[in-house]
Amino acid sequence: MSEFEYDLFTIGAGSGGVRASRVAAAHGAKVAVAEEYRVGGTCVIRGCVPKKMLVYASMFADDLAHPENYGWTVDEKSFDWATLRDFVQKDVTRLEGLYGKTLASHEVEVFDERATITGPNSVRLASGREITAKYILAATGGRPAMPDFPGVEHCISSNEIFHLEEQPGCLMVAGGGYIAMEFAGIFNALGSDVHVINRTDRILRAYDEQIVERMLHIAMGRGINFHMHTLIQKVEKLDDGGLLVDLGEANPVKVDQVLIAAGRDPNTEGLGLENAGIELGRKGEIPVDDHSRTSCPSIYAVGDVTDRVALTPVAIREGQAFADSVFGGNPHTVDYSAIPSAVFSQPPLAGVGMTEAEARAEYGNIKVYSSDFRPMKNIFNPHPERGLFKMVVEATSKKVLGVHMIGPESPEILQVAAVAVKAGLTKQAFDDTIALHPSMAEELVLLK
Ligand code: NDP
Repeated sequence: MSEFEYDLFTIGAGSGGVRASRVAAAHGAKVAVAEEYRVGGTCVIRGCVPKKMLVYASMFADDLAHPENYGWTVDEKSFDWATLRDFVQKDVTRLEGLYGKTLASHEVEVFDERATITGPNSVRLASGREITAKYILAATGGRPAMPDFPGVEHCISSNEIFHLEEQPGCLMVAGGGYIAMEFAGIFNALGSDVHVINRTDRILRAYDEQIVERMLHIAMGRGINFHMHTLIQKVEKLDDGGLLVDLGEANPVKVDQVLIAAGRDPNTEGLGLENAGIELGRKGEIPVDDHSRTSCPSIYAVGDVTDRVALTPVAIREGQAFADSVFGGNPHTVDYSAIPSAVFSQPPLAGVGMTEAEARAEYGNIKVYSSDFRPMKNIFNPHPERGLFKMVVEATSKKVLGVHMIGPESPEILQVAAVAVKAGLTKQAFDDTIALHPSMAEELVLLK
């Protein structure tokens, strides 16, 4: 008989926590999870999944702009935000149910309440019950960072935007990262007037500059207003429900909603880590080693709360590695090299490996191959937007160091290119591959 009630107690049923819990249970561990909000975490409940559904909806708006080119006559067009919002939320609830079922089918016990760490092997539930576990896994994710300016309480974050009562006629987005670019694209395509407020003149810093420049050019062409080198000074709520935003310029701007998309903070507040002697990092994250172990040997942490790479598939890999290592007799760590990522802007952009600037700084001698093309689909929606694919290659070995692209479906294409980059293939391997015609992906094997 174990001296503990559970082998593993996981705090947080998001992507990392659910994977770790169900794999640990499959390895024979007795597992419980505490989740204070909804099973599924940020990605499923208020992140990747509902966001991508909204992206599809906004792409439909794009296609609907010129139905006659497809041979359709559409007499009346009108868009209802509430219908889309409810449809998306229905699917979120369906997925939440599936996640719950997965945990149940692995006999993982779920406590729908907050849990706090009270010691190296104990947690306390909000209801007061004290539980002991051989191991504790903190998988509490992150939350939107809200800057400090007067009236910030009138602004919303990505948590609230999915639930808006009405579509904002005018939406202001503060930030120049993933969330800002994705929601600016969504609401612009759905017909809102969109203003992006960015504190410098750079957006999407982690991505290849030339690709980002193309995105910016297209976004401006689509009518998104960018205010660079600008910070929100103050937001005032007006009697008619609108918001008056002071940008430190002569005239304040009146908008319907202000979305703050200024990064995310690790969710460690009130988690009780100090009761196990764990000190937080500079950003409030839980410091861990390569095996996701904290300074307390019985407590591990995975996902956004560790502030390593804040992406769902990475959290899942960390959860899997933790469970296999601790409960499956198969110790392994996560390989963080060549992680592909994408921004679901309109059009989307995606990248893997080194950007041109990173490769130049590290290798000096590089060669860049590119293709600047007009996607065939854009003939139906007459606009001049061009796709751009780039391959960054080490000049001597011809090894592909990075692939970067912007254009319709680029995340779908990039995922496959990421296999080649991860495998260390050379440009010759791409050249040797016969093109699949007609496709956008074929540009990858025709790069000059
Ligand atoms: P990001 O880190 O992508 O971007 C934050 C943006 O906010 C940057 O432009 C940053 O500017 C700016 N900023 C930071 N602090 C302030 C401030 N005080 N005032 C004004 N601007 C500020 O964060 P997001 O919130 O967009 O997304 C959070 C994370 O969620 C991402 O990092 C990503 O890991 C994940 N995510 C991933 C998605 C995907 O994979 N497609 C989609 C959505 C989110 P600066 O560059 O100057 O620092």
